[in-house]
Amino acid sequence: MQIKLFKFNPVKVNTYIIYDETKEAIIIDCGAYTEKECMKLQNFIDSNNLQVKYLINTHLHFDHVLGNYFIYKTYGLKSKYHIYEEIIPDLKTQADFFKFQIDYHPISTMHHINEKDTISFGNTILEALLTAGHSPGSLSFYCKKNNCIFTGDALFYHSIGRTDLWNGNKKTLTTAIKSKILTLPNSTKIFPGHGQSSSIEEEKIYNPYLQ
Ligand SMILES: [Zn+2]
Repeated sequence: MQIKLFKFNPVKVNTYIIYDETKEAIIIDCGAYTEKECMKLQNFIDSNNLQVKYLINTHLHFDHVLGNYFIYKTYGLKSKYHIYEEIIPDLKTQADFFKFQIDYHPISTMHHINEKDTISFGNTILEALLTAGHSPGSLSFYCKKNNCIFTGDALFYHSIGRTDLWNGNKKTLTTAIKSKILTLPNSTKIFPGHGQSSSIEEEKIYNPYLQ
């Protein structure tokens, strides 16, 4: 499995393209905001002959969904996410709150992801874990075969997600991280929604929010 990381938009969201030897791919959290960022993403997909099968979102905060309309327009894919994310305000309301300029195109989905659902592409399978608290339906995606997890804004390098936004809850978040993420093998690599990657062992020892 290959992982391509882009850091998109002024909030520097980690957008991941994951693909394997079959050339099937998925995108996690498309934060592409400017035309240049969208082109960068498309060029990578085209030049590697990737076939994008799914767009999935760890959660629906505005910085993680800015590129969803571009993906819909270009590849005909609507994002899949946990239904609890529909509790939080829509992209336009969030963007207004953060005084962020957007060209708003609402895209509803019928493709919700539940806890323990699997996302399959090529020879790769990811398992969805509900790691709520930063937002009500935050998901992490675990790939057992490749020993890694994509944690969105639940867990960062030496930090955790903020819980002061819509329907955030610190107790829920730390409980989810401790019971569902830190119980994975120590060597599991962590690919978060912002900042650098980490590992389970690193966070168990050094994350000040999880002691
Ligand atoms: Zn977030």
